[in-house]
Amino acid sequence: MQNLNDQLGREIDYLRISITDRCNLRCRYCMPAEGVESKNHQEILSYEEILKIVETGMEMGIKKVRITGGEPLVRLGVEDFISHLKKLELEDISMTSNAVLLAGKAKKLKEAGLQRINISLDTLDPEKFKEISRRDNLTEVLKGISAALNVGLDPVKLNVVIMKGINDDELFDFVELSRRKKLSVRFIEYMPLGGEAEAEKFISSSEIKHLIRARFDLLPAVSIGNGPANYFKLQGAEGTIGFISAMSEHFCSSCNRLRLTADGKFKPCLAANQEIKITGMSKKDIKTAYKKALKLKPVCHNLNFENQNYSRNMSQIGG
Ligand code: SAM
Ligand code: SF4
Repeated sequence: MQNLNDQLGREIDYLRISITDRCNLRCRYCMPAEGVESKNHQEILSYEEILKIVETGMEMGIKKVRITGGEPLVRLGVEDFISHLKKLELEDISMTSNAVLLAGKAKKLKEAGLQRINISLDTLDPEKFKEISRRDNLTEVLKGISAALNVGLDPVKLNVVIMKGINDDELFDFVELSRRKKLSVRFIEYMPLGGEAEAEKFISSSEIKHLIRARFDLLPAVSIGNGPANYFKLQGAEGTIGFISAMSEHFCSSCNRLRLTADGKFKPCLAANQEIKITGMSKKDIKTAYKKALKLKPVCHNLNFENQNYSRNMSQIGG
């Protein structure tokens, strides 16, 4: 088995694949109210092309993939696509979803080979859900979370973007949720990537940890995954609590990932504007594109609220 290393010696074994730029929500931190102009069908990579890119990557050292979007569950045929990915014998197949459509699809996804799922949920209050996502779908999302647990996707993680004055008053509700349910609740720092990126809403992971520690003991814990979260749990809890601090304590030195956008570009870093086109290529050219992408992988991201010069919203990258 080969290893893919970048210029800095970081081993890149994880590909995040956006299968669509479309979404059924309009989260304020991710995209503008009117949405972003969707690519037309011909501009989006076919499932066959994505499978070829993954298979070629596996010959070079890719071992794990995450399916994302936009919202991956709005693309038709995602269950079949996952069953084809499964045949490639990857070490790990995961997904990030808003879960609006998950209740009706969880069983098929699990049977197709999806191992685990990260679900975005920033509030447990229906009105606030409408305010943040500009859609009225909290009930569906909660049903989706239950379905994910019932069919045995494991772990089920919740991605909670904490924003000052918006949902920071629900911090302890999410902490309590991790006590009652076998969920990994991860508090994610708000990033200036598309949508209404307002610095005054930012709260660092250390501030959040501090608030939680003032009320609860946080015991060290582990959770399966490829990412940079560090985990804790409450005494006797079913689930865990994680912190993802991309802004305040970046984890670029251990970055293990490459991103593939729905319109067929490798994106070496979430926050960098360089992209490598990868449509309609032979396996040999795909290998060259992987190597080019790794060469362009920066030492570290340049995310900041002062200089928001990013070419894509989160929904067009894949989070
Ligand atoms: N639609 C799916 C979802 O929401 O889970 C997958 C794509 S979404 C772009 C992936 C992740 O990016 C979500 O967990 C979302 O909360 C996160 N995200 C989007 N914009 C963000 C921002 N400005 N700051 C922090 N996280 C963000
Ligand atoms: Fe859609 Fe996910 Fe962006 Fe929300 S965070 S608008 S669900 S892509």
